[in-house]
Amino acid sequence: MAKRERVYVALGSNMGDRAAHLAYARDRLAGLPDSRLLKASRVEETAPLGPVPQGPYLNQMVLLETTLEPATLLDHLHAIEAERGRERRVRWGPRTLDLDIVRYGDRAVRQPELTIPHPGLPERDFWQRELAELDAPNPAPSRTESARG
Ligand code: AMP
Repeated sequence: MAKRERVYVALGSNMGDRAAHLAYARDRLAGLPDSRLLKASRVEETAPLGPVPQGPYLNQMVLLETTLEPATLLDHLHAIEAERGRERRVRWGPRTLDLDIVRYGDRAVRQPELTIPHPGLPERDFWQRELAELDAPNPAPSRTESARG
């Protein structure tokens, strides 16, 4: 049987009804197959990162317990983003909904389309605050998976 993992997923939005986009994402994440939404951090407003001028973000982190594999979970996240009208036009640009896998148990993934822990973690103080709020354990020495399967 697949292992149950504790996964931290970051939610962000800076276009349209930002709180509604986050609420939609929480509902969809709670309903994913073989998954349970255990906890959610407070919603926090943050300044945008990167070179593109844009409005502030609402951010939140959730703790999901799941047996979905990382690549399968990422596919679900992309589908949820698309349902909120997310278009991948501008790198670092504004977005209705951005979903990132910040940590996935103690796994380290290095694949072209997926890096875990998320490489943006060191520069995002708010992710670190949210992880602490959700009592995320300190990262254990991780197992690296450079190939699928
Ligand atoms: P973004 O524009 O921030 O949504 O990132 C775009 C791409 O980052 C996605 O299509 C993913 O393939 C890739 N990516 C790499 N690592 C991660 C991760 N840990 N969580 C989410 N997306 C990731």
